[in-house]
Amino acid sequence: MTTLELARACYRDIDLYAPDRSPCAIDLSDNTNLWGIPPAAELAIRQAPIATVTRYPSLYAPTLKRALADYAGVEPDTVVTGCGSDDVLDSAIRAFAEPGDRIAYPDPSFAMIPIFARMNGLEPVAVPLSQSFDVDADAFLATDARVIYLCSPNNPTGNVMSAEAIERIIANTSGVVILDAAYSEFGGPAEMHRWTEIALRSGRTLISRTMSKAFGLAGLRVGYGIASPALAAEVEKSRGPYKVNAIAERAAVTALREDVAWVNEHVALAIRNRELLSTALATLGLAPLPSASNFVLVPVHNAAETGRRMRQAGVAVRPFPGLPHIGDALRISVGPWEMMETCIDVLGKALAAND
Ligand code: PMP
Repeated sequence: MTTLELARACYRDIDLYAPDRSPCAIDLSDNTNLWGIPPAAELAIRQAPIATVTRYPSLYAPTLKRALADYAGVEPDTVVTGCGSDDVLDSAIRAFAEPGDRIAYPDPSFAMIPIFARMNGLEPVAVPLSQSFDVDADAFLATDARVIYLCSPNNPTGNVMSAEAIERIIANTSGVVILDAAYSEFGGPAEMHRWTEIALRSGRTLISRTMSKAFGLAGLRVGYGIASPALAAEVEKSRGPYKVNAIAERAAVTALREDVAWVNEHVALAIRNRELLSTALATLGLAPLPSASNFVLVPVHNAAETGRRMRQAGVAVRPFPGLPHIGDALRISVGPWEMMETCIDVLGKALAAND
């Protein structure tokens, strides 16, 4: 028996997730908070008692759940935490589907979903988004999938998906709907809160959110889900104990209690710079897609080569070759304006070198 045969069959075709993460002077490739860490959270990390490291963390992060519940305006028993929202998504897929079941997800959307699907023995079914990158409710319902994954604002397209389509899917599926709202802070207050109410009412919907983006804590890996208490409890079983480390819980709780004004201020800056960036890209003769996120997707010829040239010049962006409806594109994270200026300059030169 070869080593490969010793592994579960469903793992044999899975490659390690390997986007280019080599260090770069300005990294606009992963949609994190480029203004840095919220101040109270930073102090909480610096002043953490040694026992935060030498002892085990809490089993299911109850203090964090309470702080997240206050932030999201829900009850703590509707919250489940995880090691990044990656962990919440993976645990939810495992909690709600048996190996062999289908999971339907939009194409294009978050690249990890088909990988989590295969890791859990599920059949990933890609459902094309419409010309305007909206969800086609009938196409999703026709898959008869046990789990339907939706993402709003969507990565990498940046748009919000239509509320009517999502509500129609929730009302008509016999399975579970996971709504990934990792970027919801950047879509404005309405985008933040409309889904929690729908999720709690429906009993078959899980919202997943993260502290990696607006809250600037990606390295700590703190994500969370919001669902009816019964659904949240199942995800928590699937996730298992001790998933949020003690430093992460301490910093995240502090950020939620003391740094929300800082977060809101930087979300507002990201939204302002997103619009300025889109305008500047248009003056380069490009047509960026409208975005409700902290990134902008901009179609370009030969994205891989353009991205490589930009990286050589010290600016990392994320190339997406061959996207449906638009072809090659670059996804650019939004940050402080000086970074955006350098990016626009470097992009202009890379495009000129392509000609
Ligand atoms: N969902 C979406 C749509 C994302 O873009 C990402 C990160 N790139 C995640 C979830 C996972 O984020 P994290 O695990 O850091 O919470």
